[in-house]
Amino acid sequence: MENKGVLIAVFAAPVAAAALMWAAFSSGLADIEPRSVLRIEMPPSSGRVGLPPVEGPADVSRPLVVIDAGHGGHDPGASGAAGEREKELTLLLAQSLREALLAAGKVRVAMTRDTDRFLVLEERADIAHRLGADLFVSVHADAAQNDTAQGATVYTLSDKASDGVAEALAARENKADTVNGVNLEGQGAAVSSILVDLARREMRGRSLRFGELVVREGKDAVRFHETPQREAAFVVLKSLDLPSALIEAGYISNAEDAQKMRDPAWRKVFAGSVARAIEIFLAEGQVAPVAVENTATP
Ligand SMILES: [Zn+2]
Repeated sequence: MENKGVLIAVFAAPVAAAALMWAAFSSGLADIEPRSVLRIEMPPSSGRVGLPPVEGPADVSRPLVVIDAGHGGHDPGASGAAGEREKELTLLLAQSLREALLAAGKVRVAMTRDTDRFLVLEERADIAHRLGADLFVSVHADAAQNDTAQGATVYTLSDKASDGVAEALAARENKADTVNGVNLEGQGAAVSSILVDLARREMRGRSLRFGELVVREGKDAVRFHETPQREAAFVVLKSLDLPSALIEAGYISNAEDAQKMRDPAWRKVFAGSVARAIEIFLAEGQVAPVAVENTATP
């Protein structure tokens, strides 16, 4: 009988303790509010990523280029026959480009990622937008079924396939009440849409100009695809209201291109030519700012 009592006590004690604790907590008798709390700052509800450092000249009037290494983290991108992973090549290429730009010291530089981390496409564009970038360059490596496809390509945003651009631009810029520095506050919807359309066309034109410069400055040293400049509706470029391009440095699916992209010496040559194109493009932008006001007569 004694054993039975012990057994009951052994099983009943935790239940009784739990019941007592529950009673105490729910009645407020036990004040377990800790006196010191470790507060973990949660990202704001919009889930915005932190801004990367801006490197280069301290002079904030210098133009800023945001370099975006494609893919990262759990998104490896395309892969090559020798086990190359696009996310690794894009980071190496982006870092080479940053080095080339910082060495020349003419423009400021920020990277959307400098480690193997995942960013959604909108976050990449958001970083450029929040930093007030003057140019956004996303670096990728192409892949094709046909493993003989070769060479670099510069993509800019196609306006045919990108009706969402004007909408996104309008939504955001109407919130900020400006497009390209033109105040839209108090403007009618028709005028606003004309301004947005002009801004979008200007961005497309400027992006195409940047693409031209990448090909021009690179063609002696870098092998380009037979159609080196193309337009497509890349999501990463869609929400941007600044000149932007996506450069496919080569085909990871092609052994020769993949080998080149793995080679630091080749990356240096590639980065040098893209850096020159960036510097020329941004210098042009500073010399001839486009005045939207003068062309916005309905
Ligand atoms: Zn890619």
